[in-house]
Amino acid sequence: MHILVINCGSSSLKAAIVRSEDTRTMVSARVERIGETDPRLKLDSEAPEAIAAADHGAALAAVLPRLLDRLGADASIRAVGHRVVHGGEKFVHPTVLTDDVEATIEQLIPLAPLHNPANLAGIRAARRLVPDVPHVAVFDTAFHATLPRRARTYALPIELTEQHGVRRYGFHGISHHYVAQRAAAFMDADLRDLRIITCHLGNGCSVCAVEYGRSVETSMGMTPLEGLVMGTRVGDIDAGVLIDLMRSQDWDVDALDEVLNRKSGLAGLSGVGNDMRDIEQRAAEGDERCRVAIQVFAHRLRKYIGSYAAVMGGVDAIVFTAGIGENSEVIRHRVAQRLEFLGAVLDEDLNRDVAVDADNPVAEISTRNSRTRLLTVRTDEEGAIAAETAHIALEHQRTSGELHIPVAISARHVHLTQETVEQLFGAGYQLTERNPLSQPGQFACHETVTVVGPKRRIEGVRILGPTRSQNQIEISRTDEFFLGLDAPVRASGDVENSPGCMLIGAHGEVQLQQGVICAWRHIHMTNADAALFGVQDRDVVEVAIKSPGRDLVFGDVLVRVKDSYKLEMHIDTDEGNAAELSGGAQAVLVPTEGQAMLRRRAVKYDPIGSAGE
Ligand code: ADP
Repeated sequence: MHILVINCGSSSLKAAIVRSEDTRTMVSARVERIGETDPRLKLDSEAPEAIAAADHGAALAAVLPRLLDRLGADASIRAVGHRVVHGGEKFVHPTVLTDDVEATIEQLIPLAPLHNPANLAGIRAARRLVPDVPHVAVFDTAFHATLPRRARTYALPIELTEQHGVRRYGFHGISHHYVAQRAAAFMDADLRDLRIITCHLGNGCSVCAVEYGRSVETSMGMTPLEGLVMGTRVGDIDAGVLIDLMRSQDWDVDALDEVLNRKSGLAGLSGVGNDMRDIEQRAAEGDERCRVAIQVFAHRLRKYIGSYAAVMGGVDAIVFTAGIGENSEVIRHRVAQRLEFLGAVLDEDLNRDVAVDADNPVAEISTRNSRTRLLTVRTDEEGAIAAETAHIALEHQRTSGELHIPVAISARHVHLTQETVEQLFGAGYQLTERNPLSQPGQFACHETVTVVGPKRRIEGVRILGPTRSQNQIEISRTDEFFLGLDAPVRASGDVENSPGCMLIGAHGEVQLQQGVICAWRHIHMTNADAALFGVQDRDVVEVAIKSPGRDLVFGDVLVRVKDSYKLEMHIDTDEGNAAELSGGAQAVLVPTEGQAMLRRRAVKYDPIGSAGE
């Protein structure tokens, strides 16, 4: 299943198409400087290209066709996952987006004034541009919904916090949860048995205490400003400093916002910007400000790790992730060198040589005898969002009956053995392909036959190829009356004890003893589709067809599963007429009482010879 993952910042949009089965990113793109004079689009690792992107909608409209083009002919997006930074108290799980959900995310803007408006812009654009699939919001705050009251409460007057909803929420939850799961899998342990401290060190930085699978402490608070030293954010600071600056310098809110969010952190300390690579290089060359930046950064993190070990009463693993955590040997060394008292012993050689990537996302950097394991884990927020989205979207579709199945109408046709072909068209005759059918390998032939019944005949009945091991004539009920035959409703391949008929071809005729059936209406699907629908081969299900003509429910629909099939429901012309179908119709399985929608039957058919009717 291909999931489109969208992550919008105030002037940027990241989009990736991820295969949900193995969370592999198939193709990704990034648009920068949206709404500015010179927006740029970068596709995978190609050179940036100038595009027009006045807003997030225009950026997505430019990105989408390029992504789909890269994916190739079979590209289809089954669901869209959106990263949403703040879910407040309302959203503690990934949630299918509706107009109401959108409105609630909008109400949360005061809690995340920088992030939620951009996330919403992406959601609105994507719901407009990709309208027919479920959209799921995955929240950065949701993993921290389990923070206990003592960890989420600021020591402000209770009336004030209750009135204004002031509390700690925590962020980077998608990443903390993902890397904790990865670490547990690497340690061959159940996350529910482990106490892990996860350090997400990117441009934004936060640390999380994951106790037996649940977030119990994290360093970001009501906004992403609290906690560690970050690229441009100050992290923890004595609130008295702010009072003093407002008083003594006459600073207003915007001035404070600018300094605390954009001018502080590594950038403010180092004076050379927020890129840790530059800071490390200059520090190595003797730049004192850069040395201080690294010392303050590492010290703050070490302080948090120690306190989180105390919060959990111990720690089994410490995980470093994101740009700095995955790549900076210097920071890991500085943070870990004084953690021996926790039983964490860094292996300096492993720390220097370690490299994590998509193929090897987890690596150990502690010594063999280290009681607490030190790990670097490559974070994959897009992959995690895609996996959550696929899960939620399928659950939603399954319960709401929104998994659509294209409907095709089968006109009357015949399948023949090579022997019959030669009797009708001459010795050695080979059927010739007129056009391929939707089921792979099947085709309609140029050749037709006349079907002769006791009462009348029908001319020009299409032969479908390739040839099969037995003859089969598939007609509708109306055809049966017309021909004067009483054919049973059967699954393809099951022709035993069916009536025969005469066939006339261009060079001869054949009297068949059996083979005329009225095809049992059915759905072709792959094993993956069957898993999504919660059905098995040979199940009999109820299906609703929505058509411009009229909506109808068909009972007694046979499920046929084979990996070479293409998802499609086949009905005959009588049924198509009854539903006033003219093509392009969609069917949905009708859920009744959970799995009671199914009646499983011992259905006899020949799955090898039956594709394509
Ligand atoms: P974002 O939060 O924007 O996703 P990233 O996870 O990409 O950020 O992390 C960006 C940070 O990672 C930057 O400070 C960058 O300098 C740092 N970084 C990336 N590679 C290295 C490296 N090899 N050594 C040190 N720091 C690095």
